[in-house]
Amino acid sequence: MKKIVITGASRGIGFFLANRLQDEGFHVIGIARNFSSNINFEKLDCDVASFGEVASTFSSFKKDKSIYGLINCAGVLHTKPVFSLTENEIKETINTNFLGTIHCCKNIIRPLLANGTGRIINFSSIAATSAFSGDCIYSASKAAIEVFSKSFAKELSGKAITVNCVAPGVMKTDMTKALTDEQFEALIAKQIIQNSASFEDIFNSINFLLSSQSNMITGESFHIGGV
Ligand code: NAP
Repeated sequence: MKKIVITGASRGIGFFLANRLQDEGFHVIGIARNFSSNINFEKLDCDVASFGEVASTFSSFKKDKSIYGLINCAGVLHTKPVFSLTENEIKETINTNFLGTIHCCKNIIRPLLANGTGRIINFSSIAATSAFSGDCIYSASKAAIEVFSKSFAKELSGKAITVNCVAPGVMKTDMTKALTDEQFEALIAKQIIQNSASFEDIFNSINFLLSSQSNMITGESFHIGGV
């Protein structure tokens, strides 16, 4: 059974994907800091912002011939003007979103190379392209993930390991619960398709990127909803 490691699996989009991928026949290994007790996939507690914790958690995958994919879904958002952001909020955003993605990519690559194939899918956002006011650091962290992913895809050329991004528009989760209805609708209005994607819409693009149908697709970002 192919194993998929997914970060941010305790809540929101990552939790939905972890359950959906397990139902689809993958063995899911979910990663987050605070899991509830009723989880029906394998779970590992890990702070992706910590280089050491990720290295130690991922060391158990080194000799695992079934590791096939990594989905970097863990993320944080602090919506505020730059002048109001605290040092901790700035660092948490960069350390979780951007460095967390790098830490996990760095530590999954040896098992994927040893197994001869694999998939890496990193979560960006349409904020990476639209550059939302009030989300400057978040938008920059997601843009950095997209450039990193394209470069990493090139570094892995010829290795049968693809690296792509899924970049959703705004969706209702804990991350966006502080938005008023007006703010939510204003973000939807920036998309080409002016609806909020469902979790199932996100799963469909992830499932495609994990499948053999996407063998020739790498270094790309899929903007869900369109920008
Ligand atoms: P969410 O509901 O707030 O969930 C965030 C997840 O990330 C949780 O499972 C959380 O788990 C995990 N996480 C945060 N910091 C972590 C850390 N340091 N180490 C390990 N896990 C950590 O967010 P969401 O809306 O599902 O977002 C999922 C992804 O989609 C994010 O990358 C986000 O940027 C992206 N996205 C979301 C939207 C949206 O509108 N919701 C739009 C575009 C892109 P713990 O707290 O248990 O650690």
